[in-house]
Amino acid sequence: MSYQPPVREHLFLLKDVLEIEKLANLPGFSDAPMDVVEQILDESAKICTEVLAPLNSVGDKQGCVWHADNTVTTPPGFKDAFRQFAEGGWPALSAETAYGGQGLPAVVALACEEMSSAANMAFAMYAGLTHGAYTAILAGGSDAQKDLYLPKLATAEWCGTMNLTEPQCGTDLGMIRTKAVPNGDGTYKISGQKIWISSGEHDLAPNIIHLVLARIEGAPAGTRGISLFIVPKFIPDAEGRPGQRNSVKCVGLEEKMGIHGNATCVISHEEATGWLIGEENRGLNLMFVMMNEERLGVALQGLAQGTAAYQAAAQFAKERLQGRSLTGPKNPDGPADPIIVHPDVRRMLMDSRAVLEGGRAFLFWTALHGDLAHRDPDEAVRQKGDDYMALLTPVLKSFLTERGFGATSDAMQVHGGSGFTEHFPASQYLRDTRISMIYEGTNGVQALDLVGRKLPAQGGRAITTFLAELDGFVAANGGDATLKPFVDGLASAKGQLQQATQWLLQNGLANPENAGAASMDYLRLFGLTGLAYMWALMAKAANARIAAGDADPFYAAKLAVGRYFLERVLPDAGACLAKLTAGAEAVMALPAEAF
Ligand SMILES: Cc1cc2nc3c(=O)[nH]c(=O)nc-3n(C[C@H](O)[C@H](O)[C@H](O)COP(=O)(O)OP(=O)(O)OC[C@H]3O[C@@H](n4cnc5c(N)ncnc54)[C@H](O)[C@@H]3O)c2cc1C
Repeated sequence: MSYQPPVREHLFLLKDVLEIEKLANLPGFSDAPMDVVEQILDESAKICTEVLAPLNSVGDKQGCVWHADNTVTTPPGFKDAFRQFAEGGWPALSAETAYGGQGLPAVVALACEEMSSAANMAFAMYAGLTHGAYTAILAGGSDAQKDLYLPKLATAEWCGTMNLTEPQCGTDLGMIRTKAVPNGDGTYKISGQKIWISSGEHDLAPNIIHLVLARIEGAPAGTRGISLFIVPKFIPDAEGRPGQRNSVKCVGLEEKMGIHGNATCVISHEEATGWLIGEENRGLNLMFVMMNEERLGVALQGLAQGTAAYQAAAQFAKERLQGRSLTGPKNPDGPADPIIVHPDVRRMLMDSRAVLEGGRAFLFWTALHGDLAHRDPDEAVRQKGDDYMALLTPVLKSFLTERGFGATSDAMQVHGGSGFTEHFPASQYLRDTRISMIYEGTNGVQALDLVGRKLPAQGGRAITTFLAELDGFVAANGGDATLKPFVDGLASAKGQLQQATQWLLQNGLANPENAGAASMDYLRLFGLTGLAYMWALMAKAANARIAAGDADPFYAAKLAVGRYFLERVLPDAGACLAKLTAGAEAVMALPAEAF
């Protein structure tokens, strides 16, 4: 079955849950009344289903091809589709109007990005990395750099990449060896090898702008000696057109488990000309601007692939006939009942749906805080938006990619043996999405970032505000009988998260291995608590619609899935708390040689 963009879900979230119409006084939101948003989502759904989705399996089967002249050809159809996608303005939705963008709220762009990522993840990555490069130059570039590059990157006329990883360093970027030698004219000679660079070379655009981490000669060792450089494939000429070919080459492509339509490149910088962006030795800070955006994009990949896989599994479950219902035949005239009658098949579908719908809400809610951080006139609102973005980015990246991958695995299980074959799409979804748990900082490293940096930042201001917000919701809605299970579920999860946070404060400081061993379960507990809040918000919005006489079965279904979340998913929070408070002892008991 082909992917069905969840526009109905998006509209419910944007209109009923996040109530973006109430923000019409803010820049960007004023250009996005609900009827315009609906048109944008419908058009996005159209290009995703008609152009991108049909190329998904082509990209998987044919992949990218490297040539001896260091060029790379993308799968058949990608080049035309990319031009159509760029000319349609899709990469530029949330970019600033000053640079050729449409200035729309990021949360609206996110809904469109979910659709493109679900329709064709490998394809969507070319535009995603380009937008990340746009964001980093916007944050740290000089005016001249902004004027030169941003209009081209905002519209994806040119593409972008991020060059961090080297053979000896992935997580530990302090070990970067790529070096930068000043040429004396403000430019640098960049030399070194980068590996696994997504979208590193291709035929989709006339120029590729690499953002490269390198060490200026004589810089301090470790992360405090790393700078960020712009290394264009073709050096722009005086008119800003692609000019002289720079000495940065793709010397090979990686063979890999999934996302075959995206070129994963070995990039050799051979005294390539580079321009410093931002301050010397402060490159990692700036790269984190790009990485934070990419991390939410990767969270979105988990959600998107999980959703596409869930849809395929639900369709299959309604068609595949095997066995009889435990309560008597439901398809008495057929040889067997469709497998959707079986509780265990339902369990897999409902697990996925409860997590994906809640996860989408959590991601959109956080992205809206990102919009407020940029657009709200009230400094307190902007600060809260920044705090939430920092605190929740690692939670969303790790939780949604792990649970999204779980949904693709359950989708394969629902398909039975068919899922393991290449006749059905389940296998590609599972293979494509697996990388999302690894790149942009592995999920384990996200958990360490949450516990080690994000929780203690500003004396715990972000987590304190978040917990107080949950208390506020519980207090304000405790008297609403129709919402009771949701309020109770949220109150219980919040209590567990608070207990876990206190345990970390006491035991993580005493022994850092306690914090390291607890970090992933803490992050999972955080994710579940966030989803409990989202389900409470969604239930409240659905109840309001039903109370107003809206008979659309969408709202009753929303409440039913929410109830499943409370009864069958949220109890995992207790297990997370029990595991993390057990401490590091059993985790670290065996000596390394015993493994
Ligand atoms: C398909 C693909 C595309 C990619 N695209 C890009 C790209 O566009 N640009 C780019 O620069 N890179 C890219 N990467 C690289 C990617 O970001 C790295 O693979 C990732 O950051 C992890 O680094 P690593 O593979 O070296 O693993 P390692 O750092 O060697 O980690 C191995 C394991 O050890 C764990 N670990 C490491 N350090 C710690 C620690 N301190 N505490 C606890 N656990 C730890 C990790 O969680 C992991 O489980 C890509 C990789 C792939 C496979």
